[in-house]
Amino acid sequence: MRRRIILVLILMSLCVTGITVLQLYWNYQNYKSTLRKFNTDINNALDIALNKEIDLRQEKIISKFKTWMADTTLVQITCENNNRDSNTVFHVNDKFPYSPKEKGFALGFAAFKEKLKQITPSAKSYFIEHFANSVLKRDLKKGFVYFYTQKLGDSLSKIYNAARLDTSVLIPLYKQELASKEIYAPFKLFLGLPSKTQMFVTLTMSSALKRPYEKQYVYAAFQNPNLYFFKAMKWLITTSCLLIFITLFCFGYTLRTLFSQQKLAQLKDEFINNMTHELNTPLSSIKITAESLGKFDHDAQTTKEYLNIILYQTEKLSSMANHILQLNRPTGLYKNTEDIELNALIKRAISDLLPKSKDKNARIYFQASKNPIIISGESQALVNVLINLIDNALKYNKADPKLDIRIHNDTKYSEISIADNGIGIPPEYRDKIFEKFFRVPTGNIHDVKGYGLGLFYVKEVILKHKGTIKVSSNQPRGTVFKIKIPLA
Ligand code: ADP
Repeated sequence: MRRRIILVLILMSLCVTGITVLQLYWNYQNYKSTLRKFNTDINNALDIALNKEIDLRQEKIISKFKTWMADTTLVQITCENNNRDSNTVFHVNDKFPYSPKEKGFALGFAAFKEKLKQITPSAKSYFIEHFANSVLKRDLKKGFVYFYTQKLGDSLSKIYNAARLDTSVLIPLYKQELASKEIYAPFKLFLGLPSKTQMFVTLTMSSALKRPYEKQYVYAAFQNPNLYFFKAMKWLITTSCLLIFITLFCFGYTLRTLFSQQKLAQLKDEFINNMTHELNTPLSSIKITAESLGKFDHDAQTTKEYLNIILYQTEKLSSMANHILQLNRPTGLYKNTEDIELNALIKRAISDLLPKSKDKNARIYFQASKNPIIISGESQALVNVLINLIDNALKYNKADPKLDIRIHNDTKYSEISIADNGIGIPPEYRDKIFEKFFRVPTGNIHDVKGYGLGLFYVKEVILKHKGTIKVSSNQPRGTVFKIKIPLA
């Protein structure tokens, strides 16, 4: 049995350790993948936000360009249509070129179907819109500044070079992108290349309009991402901590049950040993007496004496069986409640034990109260309680027993104390003595007979009467039991 329990314990410990290690490993892997995802997300988000910011900067340049194109003091837009089958061609020239030789540029749109020899306001705005939104936009996206005309080119490159990254625009855009990925960790944007930092940084990206030809770097740094991860993984961590806790709790609980079952089995074994021993003495006496009655012829007087012995031993057996049955089932003893006078009840218990106390040369002092004390309860059960306690006080005593029984009253309760000068109960067993079958260990020899059921019975009956029972040591030696029962 012991070996099997040890084996189960080893297996259970392995299991619990395995589950805990697996949970920790799983959480660590999760942490690593969250870290990887976080890294990818913050880089993607910065890339998208930066592209949006660059688009905005380019949009500003495009709209500026449109105003220049529309300004007739700067640019002259004309058109011609030489051939019936060809498209209208638009000519764009500086109004005041640096030199008369300078030529602007000419362009036609396949989608523009009108055949015009002279520019009209609607054709002009069509041309400006389409030129800026397709040609200029495409060129800017490539990172080029074309000198469509010399003066337009000059102005364009001036604002193009001045259009640097605006972090006040990028920050909200980045925040928005991060939020779409459910990242709310605080960050800072830095221009240039990252120096050695404790912070968690993104890739360095170019924010220049002329990228990839020009490099103006930007990167984002996040402080203490672990806190962020902890927040992101809080439910996972809580759940797995809870699982570990439940597993450990179940493990502990099972261990406790296992040990208490083993203890109970041991106590039951002891109980059966005691019982068998107790049964054997009257049974052998009956057997010997019956055998001698059968073998020899006896006169009527001797036969009667022998039969009396058999009868006496049988009654002893039957009262023993009843006693154990009763002790084992204290519940159901609170059926017939009545008003009970406590002083009388104590006197009854003492007189029931008179033969035993005389045998043991015991002195029992009882200080009855002046006034009667009435409680409500089951008198037989309460007498049994007192008999058990007084009997124990006589039993567990090596010298001449001296018992002191007192009764006190307050407004609500009555307290009976039974003090003895016996062997005492070590403090570590004082809670256990009320458990079923428990007997204070005395090595292998139990010179005092008992089944470990008496105090279990006592406690159950007292609880049924809504009372309490306490045990403490008596001075200079012995034990004191104190019972409190509510007054009627
Ligand atoms: P039993 O007396 O049949 O063994 P009980 O339930 O009445 O069972 O008592 C449980 C144990 O408590 C006893 O075995 C004994 O070790 C201890 N005990 C009870 N009363 C006393 C007492 N007055 N003095 C010393 N030990 C006691």
